[in-house]
Amino acid sequence: MTFIAIAVPVARADQIGAALETARLAKAQGADLVEWRVDSLAQEPGASSAVTRLVQDAPLPCIVTVRHVAEGGGFCGTDDQRQQVWAAACTAHPPAAYVDVELATYMSDGIAGERARDMSRLGASGNGNGPRVILSFHDFDGRPAGLSARIAEMWSDPSSAVSKIVWTARTPRDNTEAFEVLVGRAKPTIALCMGEHGLMSRVLAPKFGGFLTYARSDAQGTAPGQPTVEELVQQWGFRSIGPRTRVYGVLAHPVGHSRSPALHNRWFREAQVDARLFAISAGPTWESFKATLLELLSLDALHFSGCAVSVPHKLNAIRFVEERCGVVDAVARCIGAANTISVAPNGTLCATNSDLAGIRDPLLRAAMAQGWSDGLAGRRALVLGAGGAGRAAAVALACAGAEVTMANRTTDRAESVAADLNASLRSCATTALSIAARSLLDLGATRFDVIVQATSAGMSGGDAPDANPLPETVMLTDGMIAMDVVYTPRMTPFLRRAERAGAHLVEGWSMFVAQAAQQHRQWTGNDPPSTDVCMDMNADSVSL
Ligand code: NAP
Repeated sequence: MTFIAIAVPVARADQIGAALETARLAKAQGADLVEWRVDSLAQEPGASSAVTRLVQDAPLPCIVTVRHVAEGGGFCGTDDQRQQVWAAACTAHPPAAYVDVELATYMSDGIAGERARDMSRLGASGNGNGPRVILSFHDFDGRPAGLSARIAEMWSDPSSAVSKIVWTARTPRDNTEAFEVLVGRAKPTIALCMGEHGLMSRVLAPKFGGFLTYARSDAQGTAPGQPTVEELVQQWGFRSIGPRTRVYGVLAHPVGHSRSPALHNRWFREAQVDARLFAISAGPTWESFKATLLELLSLDALHFSGCAVSVPHKLNAIRFVEERCGVVDAVARCIGAANTISVAPNGTLCATNSDLAGIRDPLLRAAMAQGWSDGLAGRRALVLGAGGAGRAAAVALACAGAEVTMANRTTDRAESVAADLNASLRSCATTALSIAARSLLDLGATRFDVIVQATSAGMSGGDAPDANPLPETVMLTDGMIAMDVVYTPRMTPFLRRAERAGAHLVEGWSMFVAQAAQQHRQWTGNDPPSTDVCMDMNADSVSL
């Protein structure tokens, strides 16, 4: 079993009551251990009795840690102060379960090193009279030089109970190195990556037999990137992660805003699929995308089974799968972009595009609601935008039988994209389908039955959050369907205008859920448990 340790900083004796309450709450939420981080407290008068109280009253078995500034902590006191804390951890009734000692101190010739080694030997004697030692090494700047040598040095120490190595991940690829450390462990080991790229190493520690993972007790935690106990247990289903758990990702740049992990993990949980999906930031270049995917695929024990792919990597997804002699399905090939990669059990890669279904399915439902008996067939449709979403919208509408016009801010791009799509449609469709390109300014007072806003205008956090690319001259009516692909915010400037005209609205959130549902089918072979998923919005984030 991999433990969850709640890390609680205690700076002064008057914080002990609150710290114990935090540990009690964490226990109720599912924590197994509490780590008292007494870096500052160790430098206060009366530290020994304060630590004794923390250890004796702890509602969970505890780890006592005095982290030195050299390893990212707050302790810059004397060896004597540190030893007094260790002595208190040893003599409390019952004693602390573990004391964390940094490798550098443990190996030093000074008195602190000697005391640490004595404590470790006493703990290893197995009579239960003293804490066991966690030998640790931290690097807040990046991957430590000589990582393998350091971990081998820790493993070779005969009396320390647990080896711990923690560093700041520079890219998501560092996680796999942490997993390799765990796979090759010679004794109970903690190998974790800090920072925005390190979440996978924290959540998947049970998959690789990690001794423990840390959770934070306050907004900051004791190291960057720690989730809360609740997030680990409830959202990530930490207790049911095991060696066979399959791993998926959403690869994008930036990726922090993505709702894909929340939605897919919820479906995995509800459908009892043993899989987890992580947001993985793959830098903006082809090289970065390729290196990230190769790393994820290189570790067999990770069971990396596929990923959602978003801006700016949808073309890279096709290129990657082609380079690896995989299969690019007809829809992705026709649109010229893929947003889903699946890894078959034999390792074959498949690139598909669920954006088409994400646009088509809600539009067909809307057409039905409007009473259009032929669905979208014969309807005049306008697609605003000629990027990935615009391409998917144009193909979805053309394949559903609509007469499609594509208009884009950059008219040349609309023309060349329409020409590309027409060539693709000619080669794969049985009937003649075609997409016309127009300049936005030339749309005049044309009326459309369906308009799909497929640009990034109106997206919060984007370049033009208040923009509506539809020219004022274009008529909106109450008999038409207006869809926006942007889903943050739910009501974009385009949808607000369409609402005023009485149009039937289709929000970007419907597309998001429909395209994710198609990905779920692709990966699991089944429909998701429910597509009736609401979005809760608060000031800073959108969550399910
Ligand atoms: P993309 O490939 O980068 O294309 C962006 C498109 O938006 C281009 O046509 C661009 O025109 C146009 N554009 C950007 N800013 C504009 C502005 N201020 N005024 C007018 N046109 C503007 O991006 P994409 O992949 O198509 O994504 C577009 C949007 O769809 C994004 O907001 C994305 O988040 C959203 N999306 C949503 C879902 C979903 O599930 N709901 C799925 C996929 C995408 P130019 O060619 O002139 O630059």
